[in-house]
Amino acid sequence: MINYEFIIGLEVHMQINTKSKVFCECSTQFGSEPNSNTCVICTSQPGTIPILNKKAVEAVIKTGLALNFNINKESTFARKQYFYPDSPKNYQITQANPPLCSKGKLSIVVEGKEKVINITRIHLEEDAGKLVHEIGSRKLDYSLIDLNRAGVGLMELVTEPEISSPEEAFEFLSELKSIVEYLGTSECNMEEGKMRCDVNVSIRPIEQKEYGIRVEIKNINSLSGVRDAIAYEIERQKEVLDSGGKLIQETRLWKAEEKMTKSMRSKEGALDYRYFPEPDLVPFELSDSFIEGLRKEIPELPKARRTRFIKDYGLTEYAASYLTSTKAIADYYEKALDYLEDKKVSSQLLANWISTELNAKFNTSKLSILESPVSCQNLAKLVSLILNGTISGKIAKTVFDEMFKNSSSPEKIIKEKELAQISDEVIIVKICEEAIFESSKAVAEFKSGKEKAIGAIIGLVMKKSKGQANPQLVNKILIEKLKK
Ligand code: ADP
Ligand code: MG
Ligand code: ZN
Repeated sequence: MINYEFIIGLEVHMQINTKSKVFCECSTQFGSEPNSNTCVICTSQPGTIPILNKKAVEAVIKTGLALNFNINKESTFARKQYFYPDSPKNYQITQANPPLCSKGKLSIVVEGKEKVINITRIHLEEDAGKLVHEIGSRKLDYSLIDLNRAGVGLMELVTEPEISSPEEAFEFLSELKSIVEYLGTSECNMEEGKMRCDVNVSIRPIEQKEYGIRVEIKNINSLSGVRDAIAYEIERQKEVLDSGGKLIQETRLWKAEEKMTKSMRSKEGALDYRYFPEPDLVPFELSDSFIEGLRKEIPELPKARRTRFIKDYGLTEYAASYLTSTKAIADYYEKALDYLEDKKVSSQLLANWISTELNAKFNTSKLSILESPVSCQNLAKLVSLILNGTISGKIAKTVFDEMFKNSSSPEKIIKEKELAQISDEVIIVKICEEAIFESSKAVAEFKSGKEKAIGAIIGLVMKKSKGQANPQLVNKILIEKLKK
């Protein structure tokens, strides 16, 4: 058996979150009527000149600064030539060398171990349009071209080949996605193609110095897809080498439904793109004050926020990770916490409600936290009603279901549905007496020393009170009565 080492490098394209495209004023709105967001520049009419969108440059630099990159103050654009029907210019405006950002890094934690992944570069470029092969479910026997996406700004990030497992690749991308979402420089929505990832994979026997033959996998549109594609590809390459075969340098496609990669084209005769300096865009120079101004706009990033949540609010590692997984959830949590008086007592309970009940609702309703029918203030109220004993945790779930359905406040629901917890001793004593009277077997068992038998009597009291009797009080009163 040969022991192999796995070598993985990622190329990530992220759509820059600006209102207009990178070289014209057209909107970047996703899902618009085909070819409605176009003009003479992004449809490449002869004689038109691109004008650089400053906001796009700012977004790339901010992203670079958050990932510890060096910012190259003198930057240029280049033309990368190729023919593709969704790009009528027959070239792409991109950056060759230097890119806007060089030599960054991102640290990830896998199986409790920290590892720093070096990132080669981030550069700014324009996206291409889209070919449409079907309308609704109707397959066409011709293709249509939609140029709405042509000229939308992209940042392309390329890592060093330093990732060594499918899990590391998954962690790298999750962490990257989360940082970029915090920065707001890309929405990183993979379903809308706003974050796309190509994966390069090779393997080599542990003792071998030089790299093995690398395969590039395209067309992966989810983070778990990246993990599965790499795992599949490693196994495929092992099998080829173990059986004495040879790998070829090629581009493969990930087939998500079949969970396998398939060859698309050989990469032996690599394309020569004939890069040359873009004559329509002059080189530009960035000042230190411009860059430092952008550095000041960087918000607290996920890792720092996670650490602060654990330290300041006493949260578990799990809760802090979940809550800081997006800026929107973390903001929601802190806003809700602001409404609560004793933060020390309520912080973990509030966190649990967000990570379990609210999260489950988002999963089934497909709503995002920004569209939550339950406001931060109402969730905070619910938590304080549990803490002050007005309702039990169990009843709270019923109230919460209503809150999510109608956006109403918990007090209103509790009042309308008469769900408040019963803490009136006179009432509880009466129900307890009834329950004891009807549970002769459990009572006898309890008296003969089998203390667990009290569970059945508690259950009966809760049933009789529709779950509304204060459980601590029920427990206390039953024990008093049974020990008489
Ligand atoms: P190309 O433009 O052909 O894709 P690049 O030089 O831009 O080539 O490299 C692309 C990616 O391939 C980088 O992320 C790099 O880390 C990765 N890479 C380079 N060599 C290997 C290798 N032997 N195995 C796996 N990944 C590699
Ligand atoms: Mg590549
Ligand atoms: Zn345009």
